[in-house]
Amino acid sequence: MSEKFSIQRLVRPNIRDLVPYSSARDEFTGNAQVYLDANESPYNAPYNRYPDPKQRQLKEQMGAWMGLDAERIFLGNGSDEGIDLLFRVCCRPGGDNVVSMEPSYGMYGVCARINDVEFRRVLLNPDFTLSPEAILDRCDDRTKLIFLCSPNNPTGNVLDRAAVRQVLESAKALVVVDEAYADFSEKEGFLSLLEEFSNLVVLRTLSKAWGLAGIRLGMLFGDPILIGYLTAVKYPYNLNMLTLEAASTALQYPDRTREWVEAIARERTRMTGELQQLSLVEKVHPSDANFLLVRVTRVRELFSYLTNEGIIVRDRSSVPLCTGCLRITVGSPSENDRLLDAIKTFEKEEVK
Ligand SMILES: *Cc1c(COP(=O)(O)O)cnc(C)c1O
Repeated sequence: MSEKFSIQRLVRPNIRDLVPYSSARDEFTGNAQVYLDANESPYNAPYNRYPDPKQRQLKEQMGAWMGLDAERIFLGNGSDEGIDLLFRVCCRPGGDNVVSMEPSYGMYGVCARINDVEFRRVLLNPDFTLSPEAILDRCDDRTKLIFLCSPNNPTGNVLDRAAVRQVLESAKALVVVDEAYADFSEKEGFLSLLEEFSNLVVLRTLSKAWGLAGIRLGMLFGDPILIGYLTAVKYPYNLNMLTLEAASTALQYPDRTREWVEAIARERTRMTGELQQLSLVEKVHPSDANFLLVRVTRVRELFSYLTNEGIIVRDRSSVPLCTGCLRITVGSPSENDRLLDAIKTFEKEEVK
C-alpha cells in the first residue's frame, strides 16, 4: 500500500478532536447488584436497562465466528449506518469527494448528497468488470472514500481480486468493499485482506442471507483506529436489545442460514435455466447474489404487467449499463413459479 496512507489524515479534524459522549453504561462496565446510575426504571426487566453501547458480547461472538478481532468490528443499524458514519467521520462537507463504481447501490450517492460531498461515478466496463485505473484516475487529494461492491447490486457479479488489490495498493483513500451478498457466493471475499491493507473496509449485513432485514444489523470491518472513530461518532445506543438478542441467536444457528443459502442457490440455477427458455428474455446475467439481472424485450410493459399481477420486481432499465433489465430477487420455489407463470402468460397475450 501507498507509503502515505494514514487513517488520521483521512479523518475530519473536528472528529479527531472529539471527546465522545460518555454514557452511564460507558462509565461503569462491571456487574453490580444495584444500578441507580442511569435513571432507568426498576420495572419491566430485562428491557428496562439500556443496552451495552459497546456491544461487547455480540462483537466477541461474531469475531469468534468470523475469525476476526472484536476491535476490527463496528456494528450498526443496518449497513446504511456504517456507510453514513464513514462520510461523517472522513468527509468535510463542501470540500471532499468520494469515488464510486457505477452502477451500484444507490445509498452511497444519497449519503454523499446528504453530507454535501461530491460524488464521482466511474462506469464499470460493459461486461460489469472493474477498471482499477479508471477508479484511481478519478481520485485526488480530497478523495476520502472509494465505494466498490462485490457481489455488486444490481449486476450480481463479484469483482476481480487483482483489480481490487490494485485499487487498495494505490489509493490514499479508504476502499469500502460492500459485501452484502457475499454469503451467496462461493468465491473468496475480501475480509482476508484486512490485515494487509489498513485502508480496506468491508461491509456485511444480516439483512440478506441471514433473513434478518427487519432487525437492522450491519457489520463494518476495518482498521481498529477507524473503528474507534466510528464508535465515537455513533449514537451511544445505536443497537437495541431486541436486535442484539436476535443477532446473537442467529449466530448460534449458522446451519439454518447455510440451508437457506443453499436453497436460494438451487433456485437461482433453476430460475436462470427457466428464464433463458422464455422468448422475451434476451439475457440472464450470471449472479453470485440472491437476485438475477434479466434483460427482456418490452421491459416497461412486462414490469407493469407483473405489478398488476401482484408480483413486484425492480425495474433497473434506466440504470447505466442495465438497459432493458429487471432485477428479480430469488424467492421461495412457489414464489418463483408464480413469477415464471406470469411471464409466460404475458408472452402468450403479447403474441395475440
Ligand atoms: C441490501 C444491501 C445492503 C444492506 O443494507 P442494510 O442496511 O444492512 O439492510 C447493503 N449494501 C448493498 C449493496 C445492498 O444491496
